[in-house]
Amino acid sequence: MISFKGVGVAPGRVLGPAMTMPAALEAPAAGMPLAEGQLPEAAISQLQEAAEAVRDELKQRAEAASGEARAVLEATALMATDSMLLKSARQKITSGLHPERALWEAAEEVSAMLQRLGGYMAERSRDVQDVRSRVIARLRGVPAPGIPDSLEPFVLIAADLAPADTATLDPAKVLALVTAEGGPQSHTAIIARALGLPAVVAARNDASAGPPVTEIEDGSSVYVDGTAGELRTNPGTREEELSAVWAEQASQLQNFDGTGRFADGREVPLLANVGNAAEAVAAAEASAQGIGLFRTEFLFLDRDSEPGAAEQIAAYRSVFEAFPGKKVVVRTLDAGADKPLPFLSDAEEPNPALGVRGYRTELTSTGVLPRQLEAIAQAAAGSDAEVWVMAPMISTPVEAAEFSELCRRAGLGDSVLVNQQNAVPKTRVGVMIEVPAAALRAEQVLDRVDFASLGTNDLTQYALAADRQLAPLAHFNDSWQPAVLALVKMTVAGAKAAAETTGGQDGAKPVGVCGEAAADPALAVVLAGLGVTTLSMTARAIPAVAAVLRSIDSRTAQELAEAALAAPSAEAARETVRAALPVLESLGL
Ligand code: PEP
Ligand code: MG
Repeated sequence: MISFKGVGVAPGRVLGPAMTMPAALEAPAAGMPLAEGQLPEAAISQLQEAAEAVRDELKQRAEAASGEARAVLEATALMATDSMLLKSARQKITSGLHPERALWEAAEEVSAMLQRLGGYMAERSRDVQDVRSRVIARLRGVPAPGIPDSLEPFVLIAADLAPADTATLDPAKVLALVTAEGGPQSHTAIIARALGLPAVVAARNDASAGPPVTEIEDGSSVYVDGTAGELRTNPGTREEELSAVWAEQASQLQNFDGTGRFADGREVPLLANVGNAAEAVAAAEASAQGIGLFRTEFLFLDRDSEPGAAEQIAAYRSVFEAFPGKKVVVRTLDAGADKPLPFLSDAEEPNPALGVRGYRTELTSTGVLPRQLEAIAQAAAGSDAEVWVMAPMISTPVEAAEFSELCRRAGLGDSVLVNQQNAVPKTRVGVMIEVPAAALRAEQVLDRVDFASLGTNDLTQYALAADRQLAPLAHFNDSWQPAVLALVKMTVAGAKAAAETTGGQDGAKPVGVCGEAAADPALAVVLAGLGVTTLSMTARAIPAVAAVLRSIDSRTAQELAEAALAAPSAEAARETVRAALPVLESLGL
């Protein structure tokens, strides 16, 4: 038996035959010239034809796919004939390079430029490399790299997966994903979680000099544990038992009865994080109790100008429609750092995470936020959803008051106001708490608004002063850090104190969590134990979180929260809490 250890990014234990993705194409030699006698014009049209053929093939696959897979394939198809990419390749052919080499170099340049832009643009660089391989394979007359075909379900092993590959993954054929590269935020990890496939990234041979995971022979039997982050070859009876138990438990994890609660009945509504209408519909199908975070910037990532009112209203309304009568928390545009929006962010900022991002873009692009609030008010007016609105990256009570005032002017807020011809239904105004300064002044911040939602992804990066995108700092970017938990506790206490001074009901103003922390079932217990009122996460994670909450009473959750707070490190906090939750082991979480 050979063991590989990596980072488990999606839970599950399965056995199956391994299949490895073919290795990437070899680079054409540096300086490779045009074939003898070939005219640049002929080489240019050869390249253009190959690029168009790849585009058409990807488009066809897009038409056969649906949802996110379709969107990813459509985006990759467009990249195949991207004007910047092909223009640069044409120039290189004209100066004597072979079309394969010309495209190779042009793709390197475009990809490096996208990487420099960071965030979501950087992720597009994988698309560029993917279309490059496909076009070059076509120029060479060899099969395009991609997911292997098999009649039997298999464990897919790869160096890494391109968005176009993962988009066409058939979950009925692929049992698990294991990659040698990538991290917890990589595309492979996100897709695996969305498809519910067990997955391990950054898998390394336990014997440091042993062969890499990509050299496991096709067809040989392997065992994958997506929770522990392990792959083992030649599995035995122990692994067979573990995977059989998982198969049984997994069916239990498919079902969520629609109410998040502890065993003693205390309810913790489980909401979904979404970025568009398709995700909202999927969340409603998964019985999410509402939307806790609607990331509006996801709708406009590829736009270089501010979207007009009609377009915004339609986009917001399409999400509200998925949750009639239910809460939908809309976050105003959170541009900057990992989510640059060309019409709002400054790509040249030296330190984007500490820059003009989130609510702060109103300083440099004055007017965009009030116009968005108008559009949200109009969309809310025509919808049955219970619309809540919040601003990202609020740092001070002054900003909270300013945001509240902007909302009031747009007709959003406590009282029923008339906006143009439409009566705007009662909406609630809140802020995200993701800057430590806001958590430290939570009472004063919450004095000015109706609710708060903890963005633990950013709260963690700012509390630990560690860029959330940097893999070497991943151990700091762990929301189990007791310092982060202390900020959560402080925010809950601030909400209680603010409700006392402003006469709120139920003893506190609502404080939810909408960062990734809420999707970790053990951490969800701690957050609810600290007094957080709702948890919002990717819809796929809801059944697991619900199952773990149901296994204990709220008093135990409070005790576990205190234990985590008192732990000397993130690792110790996690281990202490997990050890007290045997349900995690039995559910394979
Ligand atoms: C967060 O920071 O936790 C959050 C939910 O916002 P985002 O991840 O979009 O920055
Ligand atoms: Mg954030």
